[in-house]
Amino acid sequence: MKIFVDGKFYGERDAKVSVFDHGLLYGDGVFEGIRAYNGRVFKLKEHIDRLFCSAKAILLDIPMTHAEMMQATIETVRVNKLRDSYIRLVVTRGVGSLGLNPRSCKKPTVIIIAATIQLYPAEYYQRGLDLVTVPTTRNLQNSINPAIKSLNYLNNILAKIEANNAGMEEAIMLNAEGFVAECTGDNIFIVKNGTLFVPPLSACALYGITRQTVIELALQHGFKVSETNLTRYDVYNADECFITGSAAEVVPAVKVDGRVVGTGKPGPVTLKLIKEYRALTQISGEPIGK
Ligand code: PMP
Repeated sequence: MKIFVDGKFYGERDAKVSVFDHGLLYGDGVFEGIRAYNGRVFKLKEHIDRLFCSAKAILLDIPMTHAEMMQATIETVRVNKLRDSYIRLVVTRGVGSLGLNPRSCKKPTVIIIAATIQLYPAEYYQRGLDLVTVPTTRNLQNSINPAIKSLNYLNNILAKIEANNAGMEEAIMLNAEGFVAECTGDNIFIVKNGTLFVPPLSACALYGITRQTVIELALQHGFKVSETNLTRYDVYNADECFITGSAAEVVPAVKVDGRVVGTGKPGPVTLKLIKEYRALTQISGEPIGK
């Protein structure tokens, strides 16, 4: 595997960052997770735009333009001869002294890894997930804003551990007001009487690119979509529930906190959106080229 680090490609053993990199010392940096399908990088521009927005929010100057970052991403997939891939972009504050002040960091570190794709087990999609609401609430807007895709993911990791401790694969995280925010690495939707309901971005969720794509697909196929605050009650009493993310795509959830959602099987709207999303990934995106 060839890994892009600060403009050059290195083998897996040689692709390294310093122990003084503030990405490691303080989680000071931003990242993206992107997928390539069938020789194209899906929603590349949206991911690069979000990377730059995250960087702006933490006053991190990425030493490349949007176009250069898109090109470097495509190049990394191409040199690894991958047509389907999971791509990780990381920009850290860079190497500095042990103090947390980012002023000691002179140059951000840019890393691009194009890995082979690890698909989620097929049973997740066929049977559906069992979710649990966890005690760790999603970060407040005025702490680490959940819209920032930062390297500081402990909030989500704690929620994931709590879900795992409860014997579940995935968690629902509430915000400080008690409304549904999102899952640990995915956005959440419910379906009620044929309408999709999704927590607004102001409910403390990442501005999910799959979330947006699914909203657009649903509207194109004649479904109504409402961005509205949801409580756990709404989720328990939904006809269907599903989660969305670049890695997971669209995954049905059939049980929440021990309550069976709808029929307890992936519902027709969810199945339709899984199908339409997969179809879209196969035909759109930035071509990787030969
Ligand atoms: N929420 C969180 C906290 C995430 O980390 C992610 C991405 N892994 C998502 C939602 C889904 O976002 P996207 O659809 O852009 O991958």
